Amino acid sequence: MNHVEEIRLRMNIEDLVGGYVQLKKSGRNLKGLCPFHSEKTPSFMVSPEKGIAYCFGCHQGGDIFKFIELVENVSFPEAVRILAEKTNVTLPKELPKANNKRIKNIEINQWTTKFYEEELENNKNAKDYFLNRGLTNETIKKFRLGFAPDSFNKLKNNLIGKGFDKKDLIEASVVNQRSIADKNIYDRFRNRLIFPIFDHQDNPVGFSGRIIGEGEPKYLNSPETPAYNKSLILYALNWSKKSIKEKDMAIFVEGYMDVITAHQAGTQNAIATCGTASTAQQLKLIQRFTKNIAFAFDQDSAGIEATFRAIELAQMADLNIKVIIIPNGKDPDESIRNNLVGWQSAVENPISVMDFYFSYAFRKFDKENMDGKKEILKLLLPIIKLYRTDMEKGEYLNKLAMELKTDVRLLWNDLNHTSIKPSYPSSQAKKQSPETNEPKKRIFSREEFLLGFICNYPEIYKKVIDNLIDNIPLNPNTERFYNILKKVYTRESSMDISNFREELSKEDREQIDIYTLLIDEFYPDFSEELAEKEIGKLIREINRKNIHNIQKDYEIKIRKSENPEDKKNLLNHYNEILKLTVKI
Ligand SMILES: [Zn+2]
Repeated sequence: MNHVEEIRLRMNIEDLVGGYVQLKKSGRNLKGLCPFHSEKTPSFMVSPEKGIAYCFGCHQGGDIFKFIELVENVSFPEAVRILAEKTNVTLPKELPKANNKRIKNIEINQWTTKFYEEELENNKNAKDYFLNRGLTNETIKKFRLGFAPDSFNKLKNNLIGKGFDKKDLIEASVVNQRSIADKNIYDRFRNRLIFPIFDHQDNPVGFSGRIIGEGEPKYLNSPETPAYNKSLILYALNWSKKSIKEKDMAIFVEGYMDVITAHQAGTQNAIATCGTASTAQQLKLIQRFTKNIAFAFDQDSAGIEATFRAIELAQMADLNIKVIIIPNGKDPDESIRNNLVGWQSAVENPISVMDFYFSYAFRKFDKENMDGKKEILKLLLPIIKLYRTDMEKGEYLNKLAMELKTDVRLLWNDLNHTSIKPSYPSSQAKKQSPETNEPKKRIFSREEFLLGFICNYPEIYKKVIDNLIDNIPLNPNTERFYNILKKVYTRESSMDISNFREELSKEDREQIDIYTLLIDEFYPDFSEELAEKEIGKLIREINRKNIHNIQKDYEIKIRKSENPEDKKNLLNHYNEILKLTVKI
């Protein structure tokens, strides 16, 4: 048996999707919140019977392989590999292993990680840096920390000795070349401490190199490569995903050292973005593991900025957000080393976003003078206005009135004149475009619905073929399906939907799967009788719409035609068509 088919037999779509999305029974299908876009009401449908999962909000989905491709952002061969592992199916050896750029890139990174690890063991100065920062040997091993020696070719030679060629090394960005034309390549990271970056499936995708002592840049990072898409990677998610699920909370910190020290101190749900601002995709990724996140960013102004930005983004993603105020230190790394108990207590007691804004506003502006008061209102009122109930608004306004020693009724008045657009300090910063996350609108045509009915009630196909008026162009998206239906119809006396499917290309079969689900989505709990009625109605409407279009065409032609003979012919045709209208 083909290994793809074997995997399909062993893996149920509902079990697979259930590992990513919480599913609830809905008729003969299951439903949940879409893993591909943000939504509050479930439109992601899983059909155990048909073996497919599809979102009627953003129109993405398919069978188990397609689902893995989409949710893990991998190619088809990689999806096969991931599923083979889950189902214990042995893949044939000759399966192209490294012809995929991403796979080769990861393979190079695996060797490179190992190389840097060994170099760290051989360099006391580098190893001491980590030990002096309080890391244990165990921690160094867990995070696969390493050292890039002060050499232009040690790594390069090592990898070439393993059989990789220059082109692969350049593509993986473990080496540099001075210019495109330059054939000489040299190690990218030299004399730096190395933090390998893994994706959440434990694949090394890139590296960050920190200088020992002073110098610029402090951190040197791998650029984006076939394996490394920075906006999709969260540092340490591979080590923290279990703890994030258990604690039902993810803690975002700023730096690699913050993450590592936090994990060593028992905060094993800490993660970081890789030297970039958090992105909508990263938040989407974290939503697979928890809906609750807390930001523990540095206490300097850049950290505050980052917190504001992250909160805005997380609110759009519909996550529950808290803020951890870091005690005794500017970042978690320092805080943990100075006051472990204080850090642990801060982690246990994150504050609400509103409390964070309050404490920020009152630290930043002087509430004792009028200008300060105005600034505080300018900052806080638009945020308070975002709350939906007057009760919540009232609570914060009361607090504000008390702090500012003013009458709460005046603040209600100010609130009503405040525009809702938040004026965070970061509003001048470029915002992450939310469009990428917005569902694409798609309207299905009557022809598509009718195809869905045929797949669900194959007996009706005769009725459809007999009643759809011949030689009338159908919706171009579906015309080919109807042509194949007709072909199968003239060949066989009874309809087996698999005969029909066999005639289709892979893409068209996927399309047909979606049409099949369409009926479950739009006509749940439909009886056969109701289906009959609906099908009749659809056929009538399709015919009517198509005839109407043809009529209009003829009317224009007749009006434009100057030759009386032509005109007469056109009129005859037109009358034929009118007769058809009477029939339907
Ligand atoms: Zn969706």
